[in-house]
Amino acid sequence: MQAFALEDPAERKKYFEYKAGEEIEKIREFLRHGSFVASLLGPKNSGKGTYSKLFAEAVGADRIFHLSVGDVVRNVHEKVKSEEEKQNLKAFLNEHYRGPISVDDAMKALFERDTKTLLPDEFILALLKREMKNSGNKAIFVDGFPRNLDQVSYSIYFRSLMDYQDNPDFFVFIDVPENIISERIKARVICPKCNVPRSLKLLKTKEVGYDEAKKEFYLICDNPGCDGARMVPKEGDEFGIEPIRARIEMDKKVMRMLMDMHGISKIYLRNAVPVSVAKDYIDDYEITPMYRYERDEKSGKISTFTVPWTVNDDEKELCYSLLPAGVVTGLIKQISSTLGL
Ligand SMILES: [Zn+2]
Repeated sequence: MQAFALEDPAERKKYFEYKAGEEIEKIREFLRHGSFVASLLGPKNSGKGTYSKLFAEAVGADRIFHLSVGDVVRNVHEKVKSEEEKQNLKAFLNEHYRGPISVDDAMKALFERDTKTLLPDEFILALLKREMKNSGNKAIFVDGFPRNLDQVSYSIYFRSLMDYQDNPDFFVFIDVPENIISERIKARVICPKCNVPRSLKLLKTKEVGYDEAKKEFYLICDNPGCDGARMVPKEGDEFGIEPIRARIEMDKKVMRMLMDMHGISKIYLRNAVPVSVAKDYIDDYEITPMYRYERDEKSGKISTFTVPWTVNDDEKELCYSLLPAGVVTGLIKQISSTLGL
């Protein structure tokens, strides 16, 4: 039987070809002249960015554009530095924006990071339109829109509003059990020096250490510049999903509302597969492994081994979590069929 080490980009390439080679070829052919708009919908921390990155890796990154709405708004300061660039932006907004506050007031709020003035949805849309116009007609993965129920109507006409109406559009719903999101947050650690994130349970570094006093294992940063820094949990992560519960509930409400909408194409992705039926649908190497550590008392040597990670889904059924590449295989196949290729 074929098996692939999915954390390795070269192996992943072979895996995508093996599982969905035909669809990848068709999508590449389509993207030579065509494009699409895909709206990614999933609760916060459901891996939207990762999935679109891996999709781009599989079909060719030069034709795919990940449009993160949060990043567009946050990064305006860095992108628009000179007075000339600011005037260009203003001219664009004067032409494309209509909404409840003036362009001047909205720009003032944006550049002075004035959090009291709420940027209107219409203004965000105009900023996104500018990004998309500059993308070179790439296929777009929209990440972070709609963020609330007020934006839902805009989102179903997003393609037209963005002047992308000649291209197909569809919504991608990502179903991730809350426990998976919560456990991922709880296991997360970062390097205090370079801030690189890892997970003691799900994504380890090469070197593992052991704290005698606390009787616990810890990760050592891989970055040579960090000089063996001990990675630590972020404050608040021990509460898992709880601090972002309101956000997650809103994300789910938005998803439910869009699922009931007619006239839009929908793709459904599942991160979790019930253990009871996993054999019929997935291969062992597609399951997210969990790391366990053991330490030999005498030599102090630490050994690492993996077991398939299992969690209860929202219906309390025991599930495996698919590795991102496994989810993306489903995305590739469904996009190919949604585009009618
Ligand atoms: Zn580091």
